[in-house]
Amino acid sequence: LSEHTHQQSCDICGLDYPGKLYAQGRSYSVLRCVRCGLIWTDPLFTEVSSDTVSFGMGMPYYAEAVYKHEAPRQKDRFRRQLRWISDVLARDGHSGLSGARALEVGTGLGFFLDVCRELEIRAEGCDINETAVRYAMQTGHDVRLGTLDSSYDDEAYDLVVALNLIEHLPHPGAFFQEAGRVIRSGGCLVLETPIQESFFHRSGLLANRFFGRSPRLLGLNPGGHCYKFSKRTFRTVCDEFGFRLLALRNVASPYHELMGKLARLRHIYSGLFRSAVAVMWGAAAVTRQGNRCLVVLQKP
Ligand SMILES: [Zn+2]
Repeated sequence: LSEHTHQQSCDICGLDYPGKLYAQGRSYSVLRCVRCGLIWTDPLFTEVSSDTVSFGMGMPYYAEAVYKHEAPRQKDRFRRQLRWISDVLARDGHSGLSGARALEVGTGLGFFLDVCRELEIRAEGCDINETAVRYAMQTGHDVRLGTLDSSYDDEAYDLVVALNLIEHLPHPGAFFQEAGRVIRSGGCLVLETPIQESFFHRSGLLANRFFGRSPRLLGLNPGGHCYKFSKRTFRTVCDEFGFRLLALRNVASPYHELMGKLARLRHIYSGLFRSAVAVMWGAAAVTRQGNRCLVVLQKP
């Protein structure tokens, strides 16, 4: 990963410029592409960051207990998301998802695949975490240890799904390239990822200006969420990688999952921080300005 530590050009639009300073922290900064609005951490990774994420083979799965505890609520969330995707496709004149061939990249514990099975979507997946892959395989899913790479055939899928994945990748551009290759013409790429046009992001930006040198308030840190997209970045993704933007809407992180992960923090201000996040989560829900977005991109 060391060769990818500093981006010399924008990974999405290719602008040959190392990025404009967006927020300065003590140990890392956040840079922004002046053309497509993508922001990323500089460096993208640090040596110590690997213990906070699930990268690497044989690592325990990050926050596994929280995810397992949240499984029923998480599956409800996936059902609602698939219903929305189905509505988006129906409005565009497509038939339902039943019988569709889908690939989920970053399957985690396989809960999305569980819901696909209920809805008769022929879904398979891949993940780089061995523990997660083993767990998903035990529940009868077809999951491969690895990433979206040349082991998948051209135009093989109606649907490629990546939920909360692209913000972690060293090269999201390479992901869009591969997704475009394996999706058949007329098929879709469905993503969930944090977005800049959100209440959380704007609050984080304000707080960063106020407190200074805390880019973590933007939800970005090397080795964790190292990229954050904007609506403009997604329009650029369409231009650069041959997609059409079918739909984009803000969604909130599941409240209990968010709080479960925050409960793992050990910090003198963590109680205060959790209260602030709870208030912000409520405000974001009321204003429909959730911190993530659900995006449907179609390959024409
Ligand atoms: Zn760019």
